[in-house]
Amino acid sequence: MGTRIMEVRCRLIIFFHNRKGSTSQNRGIIFQTSSSMESNASGTAGKPIRCRAAVCRRAGEPLVMEEIQVEPPKAWEVRIRIVCTSICHTDVTFWKMDSAPFALFPRIFGHEAVGVVESVGEKVEEVKAGDTVLPVFWSNCEKCRDCESSRGNACSVFANQRPGSGMPRDGTTRFSGANDGEAIHHFLGVSSFCEYTVVDVAHVVKISSPIPANRACLLSCGVSTGVGGAWKVADVEPGSSVVIFGLGVVGLAVAEGARRRGASKIVGVDLNPDKFEIGKKFGITDFVNPGACGERPISEVIKEMTDGGADYSFECVGLASVMADAFNSSREGGGKTVILGVEMRGAPLSLGSYEILRGRTVVGSFFGGLKPKSDVPILAQKYLDQELNLDDFITQEVSFQDINTAFDLLLQGKSLRCIVWMDR
Ligand code: NAD
Ligand code: ZN
Repeated sequence: MGTRIMEVRCRLIIFFHNRKGSTSQNRGIIFQTSSSMESNASGTAGKPIRCRAAVCRRAGEPLVMEEIQVEPPKAWEVRIRIVCTSICHTDVTFWKMDSAPFALFPRIFGHEAVGVVESVGEKVEEVKAGDTVLPVFWSNCEKCRDCESSRGNACSVFANQRPGSGMPRDGTTRFSGANDGEAIHHFLGVSSFCEYTVVDVAHVVKISSPIPANRACLLSCGVSTGVGGAWKVADVEPGSSVVIFGLGVVGLAVAEGARRRGASKIVGVDLNPDKFEIGKKFGITDFVNPGACGERPISEVIKEMTDGGADYSFECVGLASVMADAFNSSREGGGKTVILGVEMRGAPLSLGSYEILRGRTVVGSFFGGLKPKSDVPILAQKYLDQELNLDDFITQEVSFQDINTAFDLLLQGKSLRCIVWMDR
């Protein structure tokens, strides 16, 4: 074929960024945003790149570190050098899926990350080599009727492609085995468990503010979903009561969003009792372990604690039974239930119709109702203005070769987010 394949070594410019009032733990890494270090200098634009990827070969098995080939971006596509990534529970949900239509292997998971644009395909004008970007699973073309509407955050142009295994416009893959050419599936339009990925420009958010890479990474999925859930979907009012089922990153980010909106009571519900202490950092005022409630339905316990039911009830676990509990814990005559958890097989919900007639509402949302391109930069700025706690979501940091440790920590309930650095 005659195409020279480049072996690429990531070069990070590292320095400590000390925010006002920050501790040594708050220190992060900012990566160089000048285009000089990217494709033009290294000469990779337009050529395949060989690099490492953590490939899932079978459902539920440890990821395998392999050498892969990443094709150059086609029209409307962006090739990104991943700086760091983290693991969201949705990765775990799909990693466990062992039957059709979702069991697609080999596959590169990962959809919470930050990186630097290495090169862009034709027609891409929004970003250029050297720009700092978040790849996001939720597309935002900014041109379709739904992207232009203020009523939601769905993008109708790519709506039918999720959770696609290839690029959203043509369904094909940009990944293959470096030695045997075997095709490797994408995941949610992002696939960040590799040193380089190719993402449609509709899935790219440009970040211009000097936010440390590991904090920016959190805004690529889980934290944005939770904070957006409280802010955009529920529109939590000052003085209101909130109950949150599931205190992982999504649930704790709901708490963070709700307290910033002035909620006065924020009840956390989790089977893991350790989550109460952690939850206090994000505004959780009360805690219930459903495993310690005996025969009493959890909704009765919550109603008693919130004087008749929570004004806002959030499901951040991903189980239909918990979604029903969340709904039954909401207040009659105006209680709002927001479903953020992803049910593994999309099981139907069973809700009493009289309960709905009494004035409760249920709404669900991907990406917390946020429009990625316009709303995520606002959250980044809120962090820099010390109006959003991101620091406490990071519980561990490991190098790319230890990515399976990050998986284990999440599965064992020992981490919120473990940052996986590609160049360490
Ligand atoms: P996580 O694994 O970090 O946290 C889940 C929490 O739920 C844990 O603390 C666990 O102890 C708790 N839990 C489990 N079963 C429970 C039960 N029966 N009752 C109460 N608590 C229980 O997960 P995460 O990354 O925070 O993700 C949470 C959910 O949100 C997942 O379903 C994930 O797929 C989904 N998610 C949705 C979006 C979206 O756009 N809507 C985005 C990201 C994640
Ligand atoms: Zn996610």
